Amino acid sequence: MSNQDTMPVSKLTQTFDDWAIAPPDVDCLVRWLAADGDDKEMLYRAADQARARFVGEDIHLRGIIEFSNICRLNCNYCGIRAKNTAVERYRLDKEEIIELAFRARVYGYPTIVLQSGEDTTYSCDDICYILEEIKKDGPLAITLSIGERPHEEYYRYSGSGCDRYLMRFETSDPELFSKLHPDDNLEKRLGCLEAIRAAGIQLGSGFLIGLPGAGLEGIARDLLFATKLQLDMIGCGPFIPSPGTPLADAPMLEDRDVYYKAIAILRLLNPYAHIPATTAFDAIFKDGRNRVLTRGANVFMPNITPQRYRPGYQLYPNKPCIDEDGDQCALCTRGRVHSIGRKIAADAGHSMRPDWIDRVAAKPAPSLSSAGA
Ligand code: SF4
Repeated sequence: MSNQDTMPVSKLTQTFDDWAIAPPDVDCLVRWLAADGDDKEMLYRAADQARARFVGEDIHLRGIIEFSNICRLNCNYCGIRAKNTAVERYRLDKEEIIELAFRARVYGYPTIVLQSGEDTTYSCDDICYILEEIKKDGPLAITLSIGERPHEEYYRYSGSGCDRYLMRFETSDPELFSKLHPDDNLEKRLGCLEAIRAAGIQLGSGFLIGLPGAGLEGIARDLLFATKLQLDMIGCGPFIPSPGTPLADAPMLEDRDVYYKAIAILRLLNPYAHIPATTAFDAIFKDGRNRVLTRGANVFMPNITPQRYRPGYQLYPNKPCIDEDGDQCALCTRGRVHSIGRKIAADAGHSMRPDWIDRVAAKPAPSLSSAGA
């Protein structure tokens, strides 16, 4: 009998320390994803306890600036894919982005996330300029989330002040990946993730939970794959069918709790990772992000994007906060954190993985960062 056969949900709190020796397998995770009643509550409790023990009570705030909804790609699930002509497109100029980063400091966010579609109008020099100008104003951690770029660019971003980079692998199944991404392939995506880490940048990735065709087994495989990547941050959200896309009529999971159980398992498998309560959880339950924060997550991403642009940045429908501005999101965020009895972290919330210090020491020297410039 394998270790997994003897690992019921009720024993989770006693067993997660031993997983380095015998990690759960796909069958075991499928059973946990299907957990119901007391077992489900036990899973959530175990994840919350692991979160408290390994990454603490503080919630890290990362202010997100969605600076362009223009994208060259056509991911089949995405509301802002290039072929969706119903979307009103926008692109912020460099100075506007730098000004919004200043707002993040006013709101007390120690980190910003600069996110966009794959908009190649911003050259590598443009991105480096933005990073350097923001860093000139004082300490502020910067996460980039701008998609696949030539590998040498990641070194330049690192040299210009990029602390972290987020790029989801979306699914670990190469065939499903190609089906969902008509102009991309999984190998290329993973090559970018490897290059980002090699450039000395903290690495974030993740997947869409409940993609059509994945099933519980697919989710279990994605959970194990994300764990194998040894990520500093893991961002996952539910698949939500978006109008104007080829998957507009695809079904969501019947058991909505699977989305939360996936996050809980992610925490148990990755005790030191930063795990955000992604915005999409609020699209399926009004207090969705609060629930995720009590089931393993420790990061919240308030929106700083000016209200006038927000309706244009909907990767999925029913996105929350599109009628609000940065001030309202800042106020609401504090209320949400306090309502669940947690506190806001004062520090930047860099990687908590035990190997991070070694990776900082091995970070490429600035001269190498200019490779390909
Ligand atoms: S998911 Fe990202 S890369 Fe894909 S179409 Fe949407 S914005 Fe573009």
